Amino acid sequence: MGSAVNKYWIATRWQDSIVCVTYKTIFEPFRIHSVEPIRLTTKEERQRYIKEVRLNVFSLAAKDVIIDLLTDSGTGAMSRDQWAAIQHGDESYAGSPSFAIFKEAVQSLFDYKHIIPTHQGRAAEKILFGSALKTGDYVFSNTHFDTTRANIEYVGANAVDLVIAEGRDPSAIHPFKGNMDVAALRSAIEEVGPENVPLVMITITNNSGGGQPVSVANVREVSKIARSYGIPFIIDACRFAENSYFVKIREEEFKEASIEEIVKETFSYADGMTMSAKKDPMGNIGGWLALNSDKLADGARNLLILTEGFPTYGGLAGRDLEALAVGVREAISEDYLNYRITSTHYLGEALDEIGVPLVKPFGGHAIYIDARAMLPHIPPLQYPGQALAVALYEEGGIRASEIGTVMFGQQADGSEKAAAMDLLRLAIPRRTYTQSHIDYVIEVIANVHARREELRGLKITYAPPQLRHFTAEFEWIE
Ligand SMILES: *Cc1c(COP(=O)(O)O)cnc(C)c1O
Repeated sequence: MGSAVNKYWIATRWQDSIVCVTYKTIFEPFRIHSVEPIRLTTKEERQRYIKEVRLNVFSLAAKDVIIDLLTDSGTGAMSRDQWAAIQHGDESYAGSPSFAIFKEAVQSLFDYKHIIPTHQGRAAEKILFGSALKTGDYVFSNTHFDTTRANIEYVGANAVDLVIAEGRDPSAIHPFKGNMDVAALRSAIEEVGPENVPLVMITITNNSGGGQPVSVANVREVSKIARSYGIPFIIDACRFAENSYFVKIREEEFKEASIEEIVKETFSYADGMTMSAKKDPMGNIGGWLALNSDKLADGARNLLILTEGFPTYGGLAGRDLEALAVGVREAISEDYLNYRITSTHYLGEALDEIGVPLVKPFGGHAIYIDARAMLPHIPPLQYPGQALAVALYEEGGIRASEIGTVMFGQQADGSEKAAAMDLLRLAIPRRTYTQSHIDYVIEVIANVHARREELRGLKITYAPPQLRHFTAEFEWIE
């Protein structure tokens, strides 16, 4: 059912204006200009590699992976024009013209007074929270991304998630499952006192909630509440372009608007943004913090100089700033976004037809397999998501990330409990794989799905005290 609804959302609005969607083939709106070889391996080789790294896909050498769906962060392909811009980079320590070009490109979409470059999104978070928050404060969001939450908690403040109820149910169908519960926001601010809420945030798209979009109407309402209390409203904007595309095809008010108009309207309701340029801005590295408040910007810049670098480069090379200036404009191309969202949904719909249980509706940057539902014979404490990750690697050299009990099950007292869900995330790097590559992924998953009853659970033989998913070691349970 979810997939039918998705098809409806995409097809009805697209067919009037975009011809290529009436064809089954996904049209990649680019030609390949420079190629990177993929090393093919045999199943026997992969069984050996994965055993050598104790069944943890994070420890695999990337050269031993055929299709890498571990993350969409910094893994996209830069364009010809971005590579050309790299040559234009000016590496002056202070006042580089590359910074002026970067700032102008960012402000052409996001009209904020202060644009502060950083080496990644989490660095923007750290300098913002380090200067704006104090112990005991509260920051409300739809769902805080893990680095956002960690940086808020690092300064002793509380990160609270207030996504709508549908956003917590993997099978609930809602066009904007990333929306914030505005009634809950208002009562939460009243409960803790607005003087203890230095910032309200919203993440678009809602990455930790399955890449689900947020409507402009919701952004508007959240902004109204925050502003009624005089609290600055900050958007975690990593997937601003994908979110705007969902707005165009799902939010009646915006069906005739351009992506650029939607972006500008969305951000007009906020007082600033944090950005990981490794996502929609098409960078392999980079980020920024944008703010209107002189006071917040001053505090953030002082920390920036301490930990990142001078305010005209912020931990990036001049050439990186130039590549981002081009990438941020390419991200809002409607042909690109058609291709981006259709190709993600193409993978989801094909897996749905095979009967693979999935989180629905499909988000923008990834498809999530419900491993607990697919492998009901493997209990959560035997890590069905990890078992599936290992099986996809052995079967076809596909690398994907477990988002479940391995990642979230570890308790502070050393015990463990089942996470809310056991998912396997197939994240799609931007402009990197073709439809043939995705067809291969579908075939591999179909083969694993057909023999799913043979998959075995795992046990952990080594785990560090925190963030165990990166380095844990596993064995099969006999
Ligand atoms: C990736 C991401 C971040 C952190 O950005 P990095 O560049 O990885 O430091 C923050 N928020 C969201 C929603 C993200 O997806």
